[in-house]
Amino acid sequence: MKLNEILDKISNATQISPFHQNVELIAVSKYVGCNEVRNLALQGQIAFGENKVQELENKCQNLAYLKLKWHFIGNLQTNKINKLISLRPTLWQSCNSLKIAIEMDKRLSYCLDTLLEINSANEDSKQGVRADLATEVYEQIQNECKNINLCGVMSIGANGDDKNRIVKSFEKTYKIYESLKRNGAKICSMGMSADFELAINCGSNMLRLGSILFK
Ligand SMILES: *Cc1c(COP(=O)(O)O)cnc(C)c1O
Repeated sequence: MKLNEILDKISNATQISPFHQNVELIAVSKYVGCNEVRNLALQGQIAFGENKVQELENKCQNLAYLKLKWHFIGNLQTNKINKLISLRPTLWQSCNSLKIAIEMDKRLSYCLDTLLEINSANEDSKQGVRADLATEVYEQIQNECKNINLCGVMSIGANGDDKNRIVKSFEKTYKIYESLKRNGAKICSMGMSADFELAINCGSNMLRLGSILFK
């Protein structure tokens, strides 16, 4: 689908959503190469997401002249932390444990904007902290990791076609986000190609769209 068509869909969904929120679109470019990213950038899209540090480095460096904002959204291995830090991502969306937060914090020499990834659907196939522990882990990271600037939460909706299950997982994430507003949370990143309209209706203010944009 074309970028402007997707932006229209997002805009329509925010208008009928009970939250009437502003929503930021992150274009997930993991399926495509630098040319496709450049094409989208020339249409005005500036925020992109990658789930592999190596590929983030490749695109960051080759497209540096475009001054894009890069989000890291994948599971981070300890041996890739220094590389990710050197790329200075705009937002690390996928901090999925206190342990990795501490490892990151030790190596950072600047403050990194970060989201706590929550496994709201409680699925073994997914990364992220358990929903019932999320608030506690969020506060632990805030207390223990001075170089990690937590800005909110990220979650992937429940797998499958069952809209009720998907909505329940988004509602659970939103509840946690809402309770963390007193801790400064501002970003609730949820919604992908198959479920972004549902996510907007549940309060998401950041979407991560890949296949719908690039396939
Ligand atoms: C791949 C990916 C996306 C985008 O998924 P699509 O269904 O292609 O839109 C969003 N978030 C994360 C964490 C991903 O890995």
